[in-house]
Amino acid sequence: MDEDRIREKLSILADAAKYDVSCASSGSKRKNDNGGLGNASNGICHTYTQDGRCVSLLKILLTNHCIYDCAYCVSRKSNDIKRAAFTVQEVVDLTINFYRRNYIEGLFLSSGIFKDADFTMERLVRIAKKLRQEHKFNGYIHLKTIPGASDELMHEAGLYADRLSVNLEMPTEAGLKLLAPDKNRQDMIKPMNYLKNELVRFGEEKKLFKSTPMFAPAGQSTQMVIGATPENDHRILFTANHFYKNFNMKRVYYSGYVPVSNDKRLPGLNTEVPMVRENRLYQADWLMRFYGFKVNEIVNEDVPNLELDIDPKLGWAIRNMQSFPIDINRADLGMILRVPGIGVTSAEKIVAGRRFGRLNWEHLKRMGVAVNRARYFITCNSNEFERRDLTGTNIKQFILAESASKYLKNKPNQLSLF
Ligand code: SF4
Repeated sequence: MDEDRIREKLSILADAAKYDVSCASSGSKRKNDNGGLGNASNGICHTYTQDGRCVSLLKILLTNHCIYDCAYCVSRKSNDIKRAAFTVQEVVDLTINFYRRNYIEGLFLSSGIFKDADFTMERLVRIAKKLRQEHKFNGYIHLKTIPGASDELMHEAGLYADRLSVNLEMPTEAGLKLLAPDKNRQDMIKPMNYLKNELVRFGEEKKLFKSTPMFAPAGQSTQMVIGATPENDHRILFTANHFYKNFNMKRVYYSGYVPVSNDKRLPGLNTEVPMVRENRLYQADWLMRFYGFKVNEIVNEDVPNLELDIDPKLGWAIRNMQSFPIDINRADLGMILRVPGIGVTSAEKIVAGRRFGRLNWEHLKRMGVAVNRARYFITCNSNEFERRDLTGTNIKQFILAESASKYLKNKPNQLSLF
């Protein structure tokens, strides 16, 4: 292969892929039991860039040529940029070479659309198939599927990839129409639905027949671009919740819009979405998935956006001071999970630990509780930090004064976006 040309393609197509944030490689059960290369079930080490994005995968586009003209995308056909496309064999060779050199643990492959959805999707599938069958590659493969691709190709993709994803792009259909008029929400819903049903079907068959092959063992995920259209956090989380519930999504990713154009439909070039907004959305997302919160408890018509200076769990607690303090030695797990400063693991340790005696602050510290936050919301078997009669506003001020949040410096950009 012409190394200079490959290097050039790599620099173009890796750069174009950096706008996609949905590359976390957790959750796969693929094992190395065929004496091949890699092992996605253990040994996947996540490396994160400073802004928290995963870099342990070879993350590239197959091509940045595209027949569509989505206003928010750097690869849109009207954008005057250098274009490139890998061949199927080039991506396979790069993956294997990088894997052997220990640069990567797997492949994250997305693509612009050349010709049509199936034409592009067929190439993505061929890459995964070659890696698995010809090179016995057991590393992690995440394929971004092409909206509108046929069920047959989606099926094949599921046989070779660990995770499949279909980008939702915009949080609402209206936003999609505005910025990506060539695209159709149904072209995204259909493959998501197909994947959901196939994941269930393969799961059921696996219970009956051990020999049933794996189908996308790390499930499906999706991604929304945040801040290119004016939806508030309530709308965004409402959409995310809908897709978690109805399409068995493993993850919804929130990708802050990076200004790439001075198109009048988009926010101005100097209005980058601050990282703190993405971060708060991920925190809220965790509250929905692991802490038993409903969307409307986190954001609603009265509180349509997440607060940027405090995390959403603290925000909820401060708005609901009538529910606190709780007695950590008696409260149920659901309520303990709602206390700022207590994570899922600590909450479970508390419930298990209090069977052996009443817990005090020292016990809680040893269980990993961030006592400097939790103390405003709980009582335990000690009065050392007894809660004084503080208002929610006082508590917020105390906590803010204590924590030097690395995100605060981004705050002023946020509300001037629209
Ligand atoms: S289809 Fe995908 S690659 Fe093409 S312009 Fe739209 S977002 Fe970009």
